[in-house]
Parts: sequence; structure tokens; C-alpha cells
Amino acid sequence: MCAFCGSTQNVEPHHLDGDESNTTPENLLWACRSCNVKAGFILRELGIGRITRQFNPTNQGAQTLSQWVTAVLSLKGESDVMDVESALAMVRATPSARRSDFAQEIWRRRRDHYGERGRS
Ligand SMILES: [Zn+2]
Repeated sequence: MCAFCGSTQNVEPHHLDGDESNTTPENLLWACRSCNVKAGFILRELGIGRITRQFNPTNQGAQTLSQWVTAVLSLKGESDVMDVESALAMVRATPSARRSDFAQEIWRRRRDHYGERGRS
């Protein structure tokens, strides 16, 4: 399931630091092709990738769905609330179990939303 939008179509591993050889769990996020391309493009455009700088270890990652959504939208260039480096640090510091909880919550809300529209 895509961590950015909750889609289950064309989901593939997304490398948060842009380095495809870095397959540590903290660096991997499931993302659909569309979100993966958008996020990868932003990282390349900003010259981020192969990050060696350590993220702040006191950053515990996203604590709420709204923090998570803000971070992933910032990574996709759809929000300028957070700068991309802070958003990346927050996503990386979010444990994978919590990432999938957030993805499922996003998916549930989208499904409810589109379900309501479909019935009217
Ligand atoms: Zn997606």
C-alpha cells in the first residue's frame, strides 16, 4: 500500500534517500509509481540523495496522521509547510509499523470519501 496516498495499484519500494543500494528498513517506504516518481523527482531536483548527514535522533517521526500527511505532501511538492529535508527526516524516523497504520488510515478516508460521492 502506498504510504503517500494509500493506493494499492503499482506499489513499489521507494528509497527515501534516493540511493537504491540502501535497502535498510528505515530507507524503504512502499509507494505507488505515481508518488514514487514525484518524490524521486523532488529529491533529485533539490540535490538530495545519498544523504550521509544523520537525521536528528531525537526526532521520533510523525506522531499524528496530520504530521505524516504534511510530511509526505511536502516530499511530493504539494505542501510547503515543511522543507523537504525536515519532511524526509520525519518520514525516516517514523517506524514502519506506524507508517502502514497511517497509510491504511489515509486509504480508509479516501475510500469513505469516494464511496459517499459514488452513492449520491
Ligand atoms: Zn501513491
